[in-house]
Amino acid sequence: MYDAIIKDTEASLRRVMNIPDNYKVGFFQGGASTQFAMVPMNLMTTGEADYLVSGQFSKKAADEAKKFGRVNIVASTKEENFSCVPDVDAAIYSKNASYIHICQNNTIYGTRYTKVPQVAGVPLVADMSSCILSGPVDVTKYGCIYFGVQKNVAPAGMAIAIIREDLLGHAAENVPSMLNYKTIIDNDSMYNTPPCFCIYMTGLVLHWIEDEIGGLAEMEKRNERKAAVLYDYLDSQDFFKNPVKKSDRSLMNVTFTSPSAELDKKFCAEAAEAGFVNLKGHRSVGGMRASIYNAMPAEGVDKLVDFMKKFAAENA
Ligand SMILES: *Cc1c(COP(=O)(O)O)cnc(C)c1O
Repeated sequence: MYDAIIKDTEASLRRVMNIPDNYKVGFFQGGASTQFAMVPMNLMTTGEADYLVSGQFSKKAADEAKKFGRVNIVASTKEENFSCVPDVDAAIYSKNASYIHICQNNTIYGTRYTKVPQVAGVPLVADMSSCILSGPVDVTKYGCIYFGVQKNVAPAGMAIAIIREDLLGHAAENVPSMLNYKTIIDNDSMYNTPPCFCIYMTGLVLHWIEDEIGGLAEMEKRNERKAAVLYDYLDSQDFFKNPVKKSDRSLMNVTFTSPSAELDKKFCAEAAEAGFVNLKGHRSVGGMRASIYNAMPAEGVDKLVDFMKKFAAENA
């Protein structure tokens, strides 16, 4: 019975994301953070890899990779408080890197790459945890795409990786079976008991995108419209500020601050009372963050903007 569910989920992901046949798909336990280790364990074949640091998750990924080899931080926007992503053309990539790693959408800072590094012969590896299925992706630009499913796809606890076939099978002998991409993929993600419910839910969400939304191009239009409502409002006034460079603004996570930390606190409290929950920014950056993932309807964003206007008028 389960065989049909997992096969249908994978087939749906392949259709929705238009994944070429020379890419394998695997379902893995342990969320995206386990992928931070699995990527170097499986793909760092030269003992060296390049990382672009654009926020907390890409830093965590780089720090984890250091346990397995040499990590070259080829670009970072730490100096800019991660208010933008690195210029991928200006980065100086290493000759001997096994891969180049990026975090495509920076959940905490509300930034994203609209252009990705393309270096001949060096595969690009991307953490897409907080933007996956938000719009079309050209899978052929990547050697490996991975994501924790809990933002846009399914309940927490699982990650999915999409890996170009030729990159598989080069892990060291001592890599544990459960952490070896090839073990899981060769066993159709059923080497051990798979995260059944997460996979089942992933299938339902993919059918929703395909059958009810009409695919990723349509999903992207919805997300662009939703984000534009918030950014247009933010740009139209002076009370709230969005710290992000315009060209790098995320469609999924919109960050903003009020004139003071006290007002930020008041905003979050009054917003929660009005039914807008989880608006507090990450503890490392403060302020507010509206995560408007695929599941957030347009009305949710419209109502939030109405609430923000009211709050600004009352507290200006
Ligand atoms: C949420 C998130 C993670 C962490 O995912 P876990 O499944 O909790 O390990 C990693 N990267 C990005 C970009 C995220 O948004």
